Amino acid sequence: MSKKTGRAEMILREQGARVTPQRVAILMAVAATGDHPDADSVYRHVSREYPHISRDTVYRTLSMMEEKKIIGSVLFGGASKRYDPNTRKHHHLICLRCRRINDFSAKKFDRLEVPSSAMERFTAVRTTVHVEGICDECQDRNRA
Ligand SMILES: [Zn+2]
Ligand SMILES: [Zn+2]
Repeated sequence: MSKKTGRAEMILREQGARVTPQRVAILMAVAATGDHPDADSVYRHVSREYPHISRDTVYRTLSMMEEKKIIGSVLFGGASKRYDPNTRKHHHLICLRCRRINDFSAKKFDRLEVPSSAMERFTAVRTTVHVEGICDECQDRNRA
């Protein structure tokens, strides 16, 4: 058992989830791709190691992990839901071209207050800042 596998197992156990090799592999795949993967990318990654795992299992496991707050997620305009191994408070830089998502942290943004007038008919679940733009690589591609 590697150190990383051990950590994934520990996280699952702490959140009261049953530990199976597939779950460990799914959790590690979310972290390994390093770019807020969607469920399909996680499925492709895990199926290299577990060729018989079903897409459905991967999708259901990801939902379960999100519910238990083992992983987070990012949703934005028209794109499929992306999963996030980082469950600490943070914000996102989203590239409008390649849809790459990068994390950043900013104390100022952590304390953003939504005006109460906006909350009259709405219950806030979380407040995260999404900065949309063009990433470095896409800008370089433009120049080339
Ligand atoms: Zn980009
Ligand atoms: Zn993130």
